Amino acid sequence: LAGSGLASRAAAAALPYQDPGLPVSARVDDLVSRMTLDDKIGQMVQSERGTTSAADVTSFRVGSILSGGGSAPANNTPAGWSDMYDDYQRAALATPLQIPILYGIDAVHGNNNVPGSTIFPHNIGLGATRDPALVERIGRATADEVKGAGLDWTFAPCVCVARNDRWGRTYESYGEKPEIASSMTTIVDGLQDADVLATAKHYVGDGGTTGGVDQGNTQISEAELRAVHLPPFRAAVERGVASVMVSFSSFNGVKVHGHKYLVTDVLKGELGFAGFVVSDWAGIDQIDGRPGFTQAEIATAVNAGLDMAMVPTDWKTFVGHLRAAVQAGQIPMSRIDDANRRILTQKFAFGLFEKPYAERGFASTVGSAEHRALARQAVRQSQVLLKNAGNVLPLAKSGGKIFVAGKSADDLGNQSGGWTVSWQGSSGNIIAGTSILAGIRAAAGNGTTVTYNRDGVGIDNSYRAAVAVIGETPYAEGEGDRTGSMGLDSTDLNTLSRLRAAGVPVIVVLVSGRPLDIGSEIGNWNALLAAWLPGSEGAGVADVLFGDYAPTGKLPVTWMQSASQQPINDGDGKTPLFPYGHGLTYDGGPDPDPDPEPSSSCRVKYTTNDWNTGFTGTVSVTNTGSTPVSPWTLTWSFTGGQTITQAWSARVTQSGSAVTASGESWSSTLAPGASASFGFNGSHPGTNPRPAAFALNGATCTTES
Ligand code: BGC
Repeated sequence: LAGSGLASRAAAAALPYQDPGLPVSARVDDLVSRMTLDDKIGQMVQSERGTTSAADVTSFRVGSILSGGGSAPANNTPAGWSDMYDDYQRAALATPLQIPILYGIDAVHGNNNVPGSTIFPHNIGLGATRDPALVERIGRATADEVKGAGLDWTFAPCVCVARNDRWGRTYESYGEKPEIASSMTTIVDGLQDADVLATAKHYVGDGGTTGGVDQGNTQISEAELRAVHLPPFRAAVERGVASVMVSFSSFNGVKVHGHKYLVTDVLKGELGFAGFVVSDWAGIDQIDGRPGFTQAEIATAVNAGLDMAMVPTDWKTFVGHLRAAVQAGQIPMSRIDDANRRILTQKFAFGLFEKPYAERGFASTVGSAEHRALARQAVRQSQVLLKNAGNVLPLAKSGGKIFVAGKSADDLGNQSGGWTVSWQGSSGNIIAGTSILAGIRAAAGNGTTVTYNRDGVGIDNSYRAAVAVIGETPYAEGEGDRTGSMGLDSTDLNTLSRLRAAGVPVIVVLVSGRPLDIGSEIGNWNALLAAWLPGSEGAGVADVLFGDYAPTGKLPVTWMQSASQQPINDGDGKTPLFPYGHGLTYDGGPDPDPDPEPSSSCRVKYTTNDWNTGFTGTVSVTNTGSTPVSPWTLTWSFTGGQTITQAWSARVTQSGSAVTASGESWSSTLAPGASASFGFNGSHPGTNPRPAAFALNGATCTTES
C-alpha cells in the first residue's frame, strides 16, 4: 500500500475530500464513502506512543496517538517531539486514503510534558484570578508551545467542579462552583484559535464523587448533576470545543463510559455537541469492573456514544473486538459512520489535511520570555492573601534580614505539582524556571539580606521576618486522594516550630493543590498567602510578598476549619475557616469583591406527597444578597430510583416577578431582598413517592417537612 507511488497520490489529490475549497461536510461525506471498515475502526483508536510503531500506524490505520503520563520520545526536546510526530504522520499519510493522525497530550498547565516549556499555575490558581481573559491568553500561549513540539491536541481544560477537597484532582478544577469553571472555558478559545484541539473533561460529575474518591461514584440527583457539573460542559460546547473526554467515574452506580443517556442524549442531543467523544485511559475497560476489554464492553461504550477509544496499550485486541462487534451486528454501521464523521470533521476543520506535519517555527515560543511574563502575571493574580495580621505584608525592600525556609522555597517541582514532566510530577528542580526563593532574592533589593535554610535551622531574632514556603508535594489523580487528616506534614511542622521559637513574625506561603487543614496552626502565623501550584515562575509569588503587585486573588473554594468538614462548599451551612471568595489586599481591608456572589435562600414545602394522588407543594426563593442576580435558575427533577423519569409531570405557577418555565428549569431575575414563591404539582409514575429535587443556581434547596 505504502509503495503504490506517485500515480495513486496524484489521483488521490484530485479527490473531492482533498479539496480545501469544498465545505468540510462535503469533504467528510466524500471521505467516509471511500473508507473500508478497517479504515473506520482505525480512526476510532487512540494508541499510546510507547506501544505504537510507525509501521503499526500504516497497517492498522491508527487515527490518533497519545503521550499519556509523561511518556516522551528519547529525544525529549521540542525538535525530538516534532521528529517523532512527523514519523507517525508520514506513516499515516502512507495509507490509501492518506488520513492524518491527531496527536494528543496532557498540556494541562502549559505543555508540561516537554522540558523547557512555560509552566502556568494549575487551574485552581487560575480560578482564584477570576480573569477569563487572562486564561484565554494562557490557552493561546499553551497552544503555541504544543505546536512547538509538533502536536495538535491537548486533553484540557478539566472543567470539573471539585466539591470535595479530599479529591486528588482538586487542583485541576477552577473551583467549587460551576460559574467559575464555565467562565474559564475561554481557554478553549485560546487553544483552538491557535489551531490546537481542546478537550473538555471529564464528562460528567468527576468532581462530585462520594468522599472525593477519584474515579468514584457520583451519587447525587440528576438535578444536582445538571446544576453543578453540567454547566461548564455546556459553556465549552457553546465555544465549539473539539472533543469531550468521558469521566472514569460512575453516575449513580453506572459508569459514564457506558452511559448512553448522558453521552448521547444529553451531551450530543440536548447540548448539541458536534465534536467527538474520547474515552479516558482504558476507561472502556472498566465498564464491567473486570480487567481486559471485552467485545460487550466495547459495544456498550460505542453505542453509548463514545467516538474514539483511548485504548491505549492493548489496542490491537481492541481493534479485533470492535471489528467483531460490528460484524456481529452489535454496533450499527450508522454509529461507526457517525463516530468517523465527528473525528474527521475536526481533522478537516483544524487543517490537518492541508498541514499534516509539525509546525517547527513554533519551537521558538517554547519557554519564551513573553510566555514566562504571562505566566508570572498569572501567578501574581492567583495569589490569595488569607491573613495579614498587623499588616506584616508587604515586606519592605530595604534594610534588615529576611529568613526563608520550607521544603518548597527552592523547589520548582513542588511549586508545579503533578502533571509536570511526568504524570505524578516530582520534587526537585526538575524544570527550567524561577523558584520562589530565587524570586524573593531578586525582589528583596540590595539593602536586604536573604538567608535560606530549608528546615529553618539557624534562625534567630535578628531577622525581621521569616517566610515559610510549605505545603504539599506533587501528586496526580487518585494518588493524591486524602482520606484521613489533611494537615501539614511533619517536615513542615518541624520547620514552623523552629521559626516560631525564634520569636519573629512568621509569613506562610502555602504551596498546595487545595485547602489544607491548618486550623490548629494558623493562630501562630502572622500572614498566610495561598500560592496554589504556581508553576515555573516563582517570581510572581515574590511580587506579591514585596508589594510589587497587591494581591487580587479570591478563594475559588471554601476553606475548611478541619478535615472533618469535608465536603464543605459555599451555601451548605457549615462555618468555614475562610469563605468562598475571601481574599485580602494591601489597602488595609478586604478588597471589594469584583464578582460578588449571589446569596439566596430556597425552601421547598410539600403539602401532599402520595403515591396515588401525586404531590403538591411550594418553592420559595429569596435574594438575600445586595445585588440583583440574573438569571437565577431553579432546576428540578423527580427521582424514581436513580434516573429521571420523564413520565412525571409538573406544572409551575408563580407569583412575584416574571418567570419563564420550560422543561426542567425556571429562570428569573430578582432584585435584592425580593422573594418569589410558586406552587408545583405532579403525579407519580407508579413507583415510590419520592420528593422532587430542587436546586437554585446549583445549590440544593432545603426541603421542609
Ligand atoms: C486521566 C486523563 C488524562 C489521560 C491521558 C487519565 O488517567 O484521567 O485526565 O487525559 O489519563 O493521560
